[in-house]
Amino acid sequence: MTAIPDITLNNGQRIPQLGFGVFLVEPDDTVAAVSAALEAGYRHIDTAEMYGNEKEVGEAISRSGLDRSEVYITSKLSNDAHRPDDARRAFDESLKALGVDYLDLFLIHWPLPTRYDGDYVSTWKALEEIYRDGRARSIGVSNFQPRHLRRLHGESEIIPAVDQIEVNPYLTQDELRSFCAEHQIAVEAWSPLGRGGVLGDPTIAAIARRAAKTPAQVVLRWHLERGDIVFPKSVTPERIQENIDIFDFGLSADEVEAISALNRDERTGPDPDTFDGT
Ligand code: NAD
Repeated sequence: MTAIPDITLNNGQRIPQLGFGVFLVEPDDTVAAVSAALEAGYRHIDTAEMYGNEKEVGEAISRSGLDRSEVYITSKLSNDAHRPDDARRAFDESLKALGVDYLDLFLIHWPLPTRYDGDYVSTWKALEEIYRDGRARSIGVSNFQPRHLRRLHGESEIIPAVDQIEVNPYLTQDELRSFCAEHQIAVEAWSPLGRGGVLGDPTIAAIARRAAKTPAQVVLRWHLERGDIVFPKSVTPERIQENIDIFDFGLSADEVEAISALNRDERTGPDPDTFDGT
């Protein structure tokens, strides 16, 4: 079985660098998809309250027979639960839906600077309490820009373990990634394949031919070589297997650079500075 490297977070906890994402996986398809991923060797699942499939993720993990400690589980706070009391309740509901008594990582899904009077700091403080209680082994954020991270830094105690942000060859996020590196915040690259949109790129195709790998494998390898954490999504067993078969080859520094040079600062998702979560 494939050995997936770990990344050590700023609190000493370790996270598998490759995981499996379940955004837009229908609840009815989730048990089969997560079971296929666990069977293929993935040991890190990225879900969220808003994906509506935490219960099925938990069911697949429970059916796998793996010990809870062998699977790294991330979930995220819903956009309608930022008030501290709501955040505590939502966390409890995520645990219950997943059928577990702790999460490995719990994230604020979006900063929502135009909602809740722009107060994501009190939300973060609710996550700090959950962390101190030991019910989330690590806490972090998602879609936070440097200005949001700077504010947390100034007004709270715990530095987020991760920032989960959109990254792909057309959106390399160099500035935000450098900011995170300076502050010991690990980067998780969401939609690492650009939702499939980067896979027809001729530069990526040429590197894939040279490496005798697929464009998806080359793009995932590019993320790993840059040090980011990824969790591609697929419901197709062959692709689930393909996306984990990326530990038997490497990219040269020139190839990594050629893929990074494809950057167009082009998002597939909403802009975190204006997105209000609705
Ligand atoms: P992705 O970049 O992983 O792309 C998934 C799509 O790419 C699939 O639907 C499929 O069409 C295609 N694909 C997958 N493997 C392939 C392969 N081997 N060959 C060809 N095509 C392939 O996109 P995603 O699902 O949006 O992102 C991955 C995960 O990131 C999500 O499941 C979720 O966990 C996370 N995410 C987080 C946020 C956030 O706001 N924090 C937002 C979006 C996604």
